[in-house]
Amino acid sequence: MLLNKNIAVAACSIATIFAFSACKNGNKNAANSAKDSSAVSTVLKPGSTIKLDSTKKYVFLTWDDSPQPPGTSNVLRVFKEQGVKATFFSVGANAFDPLRKRILDTLHNSYPQFLMANHSWTHASNKYRWFYAHPDSALNDFMRMQNTYNIDVKIIRLPGMNSWVLNKEISGQKTPLQVCQRLDSLGYSVIGWDVEWQQGKGSTPVQSAEAMANMVKTKLANGETKAQNAIVILSHDRLFGKPQYADSLAKFITLLKQDTSIAFETIDHYPLVQGK
Ligand SMILES: [Zn+2]
Repeated sequence: MLLNKNIAVAACSIATIFAFSACKNGNKNAANSAKDSSAVSTVLKPGSTIKLDSTKKYVFLTWDDSPQPPGTSNVLRVFKEQGVKATFFSVGANAFDPLRKRILDTLHNSYPQFLMANHSWTHASNKYRWFYAHPDSALNDFMRMQNTYNIDVKIIRLPGMNSWVLNKEISGQKTPLQVCQRLDSLGYSVIGWDVEWQQGKGSTPVQSAEAMANMVKTKLANGETKAQNAIVILSHDRLFGKPQYADSLAKFITLLKQDTSIAFETIDHYPLVQGK
């Protein structure tokens, strides 16, 4: 674990995103000013290292396949209302019209609350075995996404595979092993997940908000996660396109926030990604 025990500094990092920037500057007045967003953008860049607090439990909300309106728009609204950070693993080919392109631009420009990361250009055309059996074309697919949208961090989620590349260690599903090795050699981290809010019929969430919150809290309490005191949650924007499911997402976050030791972070601050 790379959790830093410098509580005094960490107290800055787990406060609101604006307070974090202000702490870095040592400016208490600015810490109270949520309007000082220009300072945030100049201080905290995607991929910069922050101090994690060893007394906290970190939740990494990672939502895949954006842009997928109206789901992406609803998810963004809920996360903003709740004041939580999240990561969007985006797919270039899903941005096939101006509206969807604008959504990706918004995601790209919303750091430090939201981080846009790489989920490939084609999503493997949903032919996962073929995709991972051809590492050269798979690499090209990820690089097309990376370069087209000038993605700021070298963090990838593989389409259809729960695999990890962290600090040179490859784990998870074996099918994409060669692709993982190639990405590792290029300096990329690959992020799997500890818990999924699964998709049911008609692109709706399977689990209730209560069931999800209980699962997250139980796994954190029992140490049943990839990294101690950190949990990566996967879901998909399209599951939250209808108002009742957007409400369910808000309820899920509200339930998690009842535990005041829980903090929400973007995946560039995952313990095994930071400072690699
Ligand atoms: Zn996906």
